[in-house]
Amino acid sequence: MLDLTSTPDLGPGNAQAPWVAVPRELLDEVDAAVIVRGADWKVSYWNRGAERLYGYTSAHALGRDLRDLIVPELTLAALGALNREAVAGRPAAGVIELHDQAGRCFPVRVGLRALDGEGDQQPSAVIGFAVGPGSQPRPALSSVSVGHAEIAQLSWLARRGAPLEALFDRAARKAASVLSADCASLIGFRPDEGFVVEAVVGWPGRAPQVPSDEALRYVLRSQRPLVVEDWEHERRVSLPDHMRARGIRATVDVLIGDPESPAGLLSVHYTTPQRSLREHVPFLDALGNVLAEAIDSGHVRETVRRQSLHDTLTGLPNRALLLDHLQHELDFEDHRGKRPAVMVIDLDHFVIVNDSLGHQSGDELLRLVTARLERLMRKGDMFARLGADEFAVLCRDLRSEVTVVRIADRVLGALEEPFTLQTEERVLSASIGIAVSNRTSSAEELLRDADAAMNHAKHRGRGRAELFDKEMRARVLGRVRTESALRAALARDEEISVQYQPLVSLRSGEIVGAEALARWRHPDWGPVAPLEFVPVAEDSGLIHALGAHIMHLAAREARAWQDVAGFRGIAINVSARQLVQPGEVAGLARRVVLAQGIRPGFLTLELTESLLIEELDSARDALGSLTALGVRLALDDFGTGYSSLSYLRDLRFDCVKIDQSLIRNIVDAPRDAAVIDAIIHLAHALDLEVVAEGLETDEQVAGLQALGCDLGQGHRFAPPLAAAEFDALLREPPADWLPRLKGRTGSRSAGTRVP
Ligand code: C2E
Ligand code: MG
Ligand code: MG
Repeated sequence: MLDLTSTPDLGPGNAQAPWVAVPRELLDEVDAAVIVRGADWKVSYWNRGAERLYGYTSAHALGRDLRDLIVPELTLAALGALNREAVAGRPAAGVIELHDQAGRCFPVRVGLRALDGEGDQQPSAVIGFAVGPGSQPRPALSSVSVGHAEIAQLSWLARRGAPLEALFDRAARKAASVLSADCASLIGFRPDEGFVVEAVVGWPGRAPQVPSDEALRYVLRSQRPLVVEDWEHERRVSLPDHMRARGIRATVDVLIGDPESPAGLLSVHYTTPQRSLREHVPFLDALGNVLAEAIDSGHVRETVRRQSLHDTLTGLPNRALLLDHLQHELDFEDHRGKRPAVMVIDLDHFVIVNDSLGHQSGDELLRLVTARLERLMRKGDMFARLGADEFAVLCRDLRSEVTVVRIADRVLGALEEPFTLQTEERVLSASIGIAVSNRTSSAEELLRDADAAMNHAKHRGRGRAELFDKEMRARVLGRVRTESALRAALARDEEISVQYQPLVSLRSGEIVGAEALARWRHPDWGPVAPLEFVPVAEDSGLIHALGAHIMHLAAREARAWQDVAGFRGIAINVSARQLVQPGEVAGLARRVVLAQGIRPGFLTLELTESLLIEELDSARDALGSLTALGVRLALDDFGTGYSSLSYLRDLRFDCVKIDQSLIRNIVDAPRDAAVIDAIIHLAHALDLEVVAEGLETDEQVAGLQALGCDLGQGHRFAPPLAAAEFDALLREPPADWLPRLKGRTGSRSAGTRVP
């Protein structure tokens, strides 16, 4: 540990320490500035090098906020970014612009390092090493050349599109420092608000309200700067009371912009009478010109910016603006010891409202929701719209997590009050995810965390709020890793294959079909289960590429089986997410059928029940065009979700697959057997074929045969097999595949009969 306060202890204990004790005197000798600051940014160490580079003595600097001392407004973000790296334990070095006591800005090469604190923990101190431009002491500049340098610098910043507030602030500070004034102020003229104080430097006590009207009028009318070397002798304009109270004795006011369309007033003030003040006018004028130009282009920029940063429907800030402000909060959060948080609010089942009432009413509802939630926000929090029915709140200044949970509760409560739409009343609910800054994440990462928490809330039954925690973080990181590996795998086209599991007639024992199951073998991780990568593919949009890949591959491999007597075709799993884009799956199936030369009826598409319900409307259209094509449809995992047979017929399914969770209990639980019995009867009444999934034992097979189930699939017959293996099995099936129906109690025989 670097010990900067005590006398050096070079005892044996220090040999293992990552840092050695360094005597202070030694650090004073180095040519670099060495500064240590605490978590509150207060300087706790300031070596000679820092004194030389920045001009402040150690006595002056100690205990002051480092940012107030040497960090210009425009560097804050860059320093914040470096700081985050350091806090996260990563190497943090770069060149940033800092300024010295005289207000001169110059590039400085800095390296930062957190002195303690690990992971989520905020370090109690950060040490910085800095080397300025050339290690020789810089010659003092004349005030004229400093002035020129400042104007050049300001106009460079303006051209680079620096925000107006930052330019105002810089101009006021430079006016004060270059002209050695006691205070400086910048009054801006805003078209809709009139004159407002934009920046003040060195003003004793409270900042001035709005400038002296008289001075302003004088400058506007005379079109000349107002130069007062001693207010005691001034006759044209009287000294406003608030300035007299602060002991102002001399002033220069120059106009920003032209008198026809004034943009503001830049002023410097002195508490003692001055001589030759008129000499300061050119410098102030030059600053004013740069600002006027920046304001002009700024107004144009501002309108464009506003349009691109706000949502047109609700007028709320959009994702980009939210992220921008969030990042700003994160860069400076430890300043006040409070942490920002972000909350993602997703309206539940909004699609249903939208579809049943029409899009106009949907828009209207979103506006009503916006108005109601906006009222709940605390002052200073930012309420934004991220997308269709997704909103977000940036909570600045969080004292504890309780605050944000309370806001979430209020949001949930407010949505429960009915909304009136076309004389109809609607109640809404929302799923909310919250992520509180952990001091290492970026804005994007934090928003992603809140989103993950929101999804968690949805899975846990909606209408609730969830806080992002460590476990979720691990899951999210795992998902991100899986996603990029899957993307690469799809691009390489080597790691993903298909296995086939036979569908066996429970009457004849013949193999009548096969389910194609996606397999992924990662070069380092080995096989990855579909239950792990399919959901990731669904969330990331990769499901479209994956689905197309599997369908083409399976159709190609299965093509030859069209000639095997009794073999009716293969079943391919399709995610309901693929159905969202109308015509996508039908188009894909059509291409596959044509490209691989198979009959449409050779293909069965399996869809999972629960997902179908969520996307019911888009699914209905998509399924319609698939049946028109002649492709068969199977409802997968039946019995795990809503289990409503009513829409089975409605959606024109040909087949229903009873989930293995129901099958598992058929022997021991008579109630499950009764449920399966009912499903089989109903399905047959609707002219649907029934498949039992996950058959593992002879008893299960016998039980389903007795109930009249048509087909079976499971390890009792065979596990999923590679194409060649399946081909062999298909062409030479085992002789006694079905258990004899009577007189056998049978033992477990999980898939042992596979050749
Ligand atoms: P699923 O469509 O219900 O597939 C049946 C699952 O049950 C397969 O798991 C299969 O290996 C497993 N299984 C088969 N027989 C038995 C048995 O006797 N006992 C037990 N315990 N399990 C058995 P798998 O291959 O891990 O796939 C899991 C799920 O992933 C599939 O469930 C399906 O929903 C999804 N999936 C697989 N491939 C694809 C694909 O290409 N696209 C899409 N969208 N989803 C896929
Ligand atoms: Mg399936
Ligand atoms: Mg299934």
